[in-house]
Amino acid sequence: MLDTMPAYKPGKAVVAPDGRSYKLSSNESPYGPLPSVVEAIAEGAREVNRYPDPGAVRLTEAIAARYAVPPEHIALGAGSVTVAQQLFETVGEPGVEVVYAWRSFEAYPLLADLSGVTSVQVPLAGEDHDLDAMAAAITDRTRMVLVCNPNNPTGTAIRRGALEAFLDRVPERVLVVLDEAYREYIRDEDVPDGITLYRDRPNVCVLRTFSKAYGLAGLRVGYLIAHEPVATAVRKTIIPFAVNHLAQVAAVASLAAEDELLERVERVVKERTRVREALIAQGWTVPPTEANFVWLRLGERTLDFAAACAVEGVAVRPFAGEGARVSIGDPEANDAFLAAAGAFRE
Ligand code: PMP
Repeated sequence: MLDTMPAYKPGKAVVAPDGRSYKLSSNESPYGPLPSVVEAIAEGAREVNRYPDPGAVRLTEAIAARYAVPPEHIALGAGSVTVAQQLFETVGEPGVEVVYAWRSFEAYPLLADLSGVTSVQVPLAGEDHDLDAMAAAITDRTRMVLVCNPNNPTGTAIRRGALEAFLDRVPERVLVVLDEAYREYIRDEDVPDGITLYRDRPNVCVLRTFSKAYGLAGLRVGYLIAHEPVATAVRKTIIPFAVNHLAQVAAVASLAAEDELLERVERVVKERTRVREALIAQGWTVPPTEANFVWLRLGERTLDFAAACAVEGVAVRPFAGEGARVSIGDPEANDAFLAAAGAFRE
């Protein structure tokens, strides 16, 4: 099976002939960690002769306090993609179906194949989740539904009424995973916080990450908030010591510096508005985005567009035949991207 499986394609940096390089292909934070977080990592580096705390007690308690959830409801992993993998492992038996929208996060089909479950991909309606079609796709064999909110790569978010109505239609035996990797960038107040939805719904759980808004992509730490049976099952399937010591201390320090980090998120959100408006002024159609990226549906022109951006040193994430996802970077990177996008339209 591995022979025929496509590999995950990470975003790559590109360099312009004049040496400029802007990586807008992996939805990373353009900012390095805060000084207090760097200090915590440096301090933690002295202790890496020891294995990390296998239960990541301090981090678990910090997350539990931050979101007012019991620590038993938290399962940590080396990035939320690892936690997602553990979710697939816990439901994974031959014959089991997992429903998710397509296009969505490109790891979902890989994780489904790896765990031996059958992917049921429900096409997006335009750039949005088609929740009616997703509810209709649930069968007796469905064990899990993934809802990426906001959706990667289209950036669109599902509002409260639509999401609650969908959750009401999902049988309780089916686990609903709300993948909220980009939660901190949401500004539409009608988009619900998944943690408020999970509280009185035993079959709903939420995936979050320190990779995006918290700027710790290189350290790999993400988590699940779920009711106890699910959280316990996921903790059982996680590889011992998966979350390393530096990741644990950096995540704790980041939660302690949350106000400063969220101020950086605000800068990205402001740039997102600027980039989207400038693209629209150039004549592009850009779906509203609640994440730290924009989506351009380019069809057959997608790879040409990515190549044109690369010449300007701007790495975007092309999905051949469909479109390109472009992360919001710092103002200089965004200007370089806007210049490339403007030139491509002319
Ligand atoms: N979910 C979504 C929707 C994502 O876009 C990503 C990263 N691209 C992840 C999960 C995984 O992030 P990480 O493993 O770094 O936490």
